[in-house]
Amino acid sequence: MQIYADNAATTKMSNAAIEAMTDCMRNWYGNPSSLYTIGQKAKEKLEEARREIADIINASPREIIFTSGGSEADNQALLTAAINGKRKGKTHIISSAFEHHAVLHTLNKLEKNGFEVTLLPVHENGIVRLDELEKAIREDTCLVTIMTANNEIGTIQPIGEIGDICRRRGVVFHTDAVQAVGHLPIDVKAENIDMLSASAHKFHGPKGVGFLYARKGIILQNLIEGGAQERGKRAGTENLPGIMAMVAALKEATSAMEKNNKHMAKIRDHIIRGLSEIPHSALNGDAERRLSGNINFSFEGIEGESILMLLDQKGISASSGSACTSGALDPSHVLLSIGRIHDVAHGSLRLSIGEDATKEEADYIIESVKEVVAHLRSFSPVWRDLTEGKKEFILK
Ligand SMILES: *Cc1c(COP(=O)(O)O)cnc(C)c1O
Repeated sequence: MQIYADNAATTKMSNAAIEAMTDCMRNWYGNPSSLYTIGQKAKEKLEEARREIADIINASPREIIFTSGGSEADNQALLTAAINGKRKGKTHIISSAFEHHAVLHTLNKLEKNGFEVTLLPVHENGIVRLDELEKAIREDTCLVTIMTANNEIGTIQPIGEIGDICRRRGVVFHTDAVQAVGHLPIDVKAENIDMLSASAHKFHGPKGVGFLYARKGIILQNLIEGGAQERGKRAGTENLPGIMAMVAALKEATSAMEKNNKHMAKIRDHIIRGLSEIPHSALNGDAERRLSGNINFSFEGIEGESILMLLDQKGISASSGSACTSGALDPSHVLLSIGRIHDVAHGSLRLSIGEDATKEEADYIIESVKEVVAHLRSFSPVWRDLTEGKKEFILK
């Protein structure tokens, strides 16, 4: 059996997206900035795409900027709030401890340039607390940036409530919604979101394309200078094939969202129940307030990397955390942020199932993980120390 269970890292492009992309490459190849008919046709397609994206998140087309993906959108949003804040003497930023590196590394850079950053704890369940956010906001806070859903443990933040607090306190609110767009309903107006990042390849669109929503009134700062594309806020000839494919994928994901989530949650919970039978294991992140495709477990006494290799031999593609950190020996900052100690964080597995996952595949995953964990424990010195009582178990 071949099972792709790493949809949080990237998804397979949908047929609708591939068709939209090739259709654009064949027929709408003009440069949207050119004034002749072929160029203006491309421009029409571009603006139609912008309208469709805006509609889906309840924004207006002028509030959508196309980018090269989630990382770029995150960078631009943070830099925008930082530069605009600094002009008013505000240099304090609030975020959470388990953001994506596109946010955390940008915050590091800002810290080196005189900004002060407060990272809210996300606690054992992987969710920020509103009273702690409320307390952290200061006179000089220019930005709150908190992700909608975490890419490793799938926990979903109370975005509407965070938006309310920020609007009431007069602070700009950005959310990295890369794991949420196409998977959860989003209404930027109802949720008081000022800026939002999205990426097509997380919802069956192509890699290398995404968008940034910035509420009217927010003056965007450029990362890329050049031509006047995207109303002067993001130079470079637009990636129209990518943009058209992204829209096709997002429309499809949005219209099937409820049905997909119902189905995936059922499969997810079946896998969670199955893996919970493994002794000295634990689900990471809140069991209910999590993405319907996300399963993240820690198993005591083993190494994440070796689980992955053995699962790969059984045809299962999974991850030990985020694709960006796997390969590095440091345990995931996300697992550390919810209080897993180094040893336990190392023995962790993320399965992110897709919309077409079946019960049979779920059973095969459960059986394979049980086998692999038992096998690895059979020759693990750490496991021997634990079972012989030389070390204390942390997971029940
Ligand atoms: C994948 C991801 C990103 C980066 O998006 P790219 O399009 O790959 O640059 C940012 N944030 C989160 C939460 C992600 O899952």
